[in-house]
Amino acid sequence: MEMEKLVALCKRRGYLFQSSEIYGGLNGFWDYGPLGVELKRNVKEAWWRDMVSGHDDLSVLPGAPAAYEMTGLDCTIIMHPQVWKCSGHYDLFHDYMVDCRQTRKRYRHDQVRGRWAQCKEQRVFVTTMVEASLEEEESQRRAMKFFKLRNKDLDALSWDGGFQVLTEIDDFSQVLAPDATELDTLTEPREFNLMFKTYVGALSGEEGAAFLRPETAQGIFVNFKNVVDSSRVKVPFGIAQIGKSFRNEITPRNFTFRSREFEQMEIEFFCHPNASADWYTYWRDRRMQWYQALGLAGERLQLREHDADELSHYSTGTADIEYAFPFLPSGEYGELEGIAHRGDFDLRSHMEGKLDESSDPLTVQLDEHGKPKYRGSGKDLTYRDEVSNERFTPHVIEPSAGADRATLAFLCEAYTEDAAPDDKGKMQTRTVLSLHPRLAPIKAAVFPLVKKDGMPEIAKDIYRALKKKFNVFYDEKGAVGRRYRRQDEAGTPFCITVDGDTLTDQTVTLRDRDTLEQTRIKIDEVVSQIEQRVQA
Ligand code: ATP
Repeated sequence: MEMEKLVALCKRRGYLFQSSEIYGGLNGFWDYGPLGVELKRNVKEAWWRDMVSGHDDLSVLPGAPAAYEMTGLDCTIIMHPQVWKCSGHYDLFHDYMVDCRQTRKRYRHDQVRGRWAQCKEQRVFVTTMVEASLEEEESQRRAMKFFKLRNKDLDALSWDGGFQVLTEIDDFSQVLAPDATELDTLTEPREFNLMFKTYVGALSGEEGAAFLRPETAQGIFVNFKNVVDSSRVKVPFGIAQIGKSFRNEITPRNFTFRSREFEQMEIEFFCHPNASADWYTYWRDRRMQWYQALGLAGERLQLREHDADELSHYSTGTADIEYAFPFLPSGEYGELEGIAHRGDFDLRSHMEGKLDESSDPLTVQLDEHGKPKYRGSGKDLTYRDEVSNERFTPHVIEPSAGADRATLAFLCEAYTEDAAPDDKGKMQTRTVLSLHPRLAPIKAAVFPLVKKDGMPEIAKDIYRALKKKFNVFYDEKGAVGRRYRRQDEAGTPFCITVDGDTLTDQTVTLRDRDTLEQTRIKIDEVVSQIEQRVQA
């Protein structure tokens, strides 16, 4: 599937729009349209239902070391600035950027890709920032322009090796930056903190400085004690949160995959240190199964365990759930969710102060005056087990997912083109979004075959009965084949048509989006049939 087709469909059918589009858009910000908002809500609701509100606290689930409880939170986006000092984000949450002195454009160091072009004794690293599928063509176009070659001189140009990332190039003197016309315009890579800064209240200057949260997780850690004290949860238990996060990404791209404002779905699961390795395995597998059950069942989805050298110093295991998005180079995967064993790093940091990678994890960093550099809250965030009377700092397993990336992956996977007969029985290309019925924005569409003989009245009654439970759509305009096709593109799994036979036998046609199978069912079974099929 080419990404442009999906992007065009998303715009045409109201899934996604560029933010502030009438003013030319704002890079890294996206709005969900009428269908998009339903899809993303369904993704978030499926997650909340499956992980939190529908979780059975009493049973031991398959693969789980024990029964456990789940609860939720909804925290603020702006928090005390000390939170970000103790979490490490203030010091460590940065990417490396390079600036182009000619175009004044800024790029993320590890996102610029290029290849070595050779022409007339000169060797130039020609870079582009285009999608992988266009990289070859675009770098050739740029190289020809740079070397002032015409099409007939193409033989004078040769390529040395394949595409490489700028991080692999030590000397920038022969680099042609993505939009530059001269060589050697890139600065050395520099650190760039990704947190958005703002000012709280009427205080001017640094006193009122605060940050928009770059992840929802910290709100959970700082409320750990509140949750334990106010509810009756006992370790092991999880706290879940869905909410907006903000990162001032240097080069937002690939549609919503890398945005500057996005939504996360995070769980912090607190357990006894002795059991944490087993809980890590449980959550890793459980989260992988969740995506599979909702339609990412193919080989485009993979679970990747981090190698030891990729792990944070406090982590004994991290895995990413990844999807081969169509805009990535072939064979590459993009992260949908990370599942990390975080030990007691976070609770301890908020108790004692920020722990630095280089230092002994049990000692607090000191500043030049010998004072603790980043003082934690000083509050006791340990936990006492009522049965054994043991006091300990729980270990944490963190499944951290992105709602926008999941939504985008479901859309990519769902996009299909096949052939179906039109109103005259002729085979035509059909665009279908084969979304899982739980995720589909509209669960069913109801049509009268024609606008007469009382058919619209019956169809409207069916529509109203369904509408009490689901988002459904009524349409009486145009040829029925065209109405089906519009619903296929919108991802609607079921269409119900009232026709001549309905008037005599009280049955309607139920058409399945994926199999194109049409079955006749009784009007009074419509609601229960749709209910069953949506849950399936
Ligand atoms: P990446 O390496 O792709 O920047 P990350 O490892 O920094 O991602 P985490 O900090 O682990 O991401 O965040 C957890 C999840 O939040 C990611 O798996 C992803 O789904 C989502 N996420 C992170 N950054 C963005 C973003 N800029 N736009 C959309 N979703 C994001």
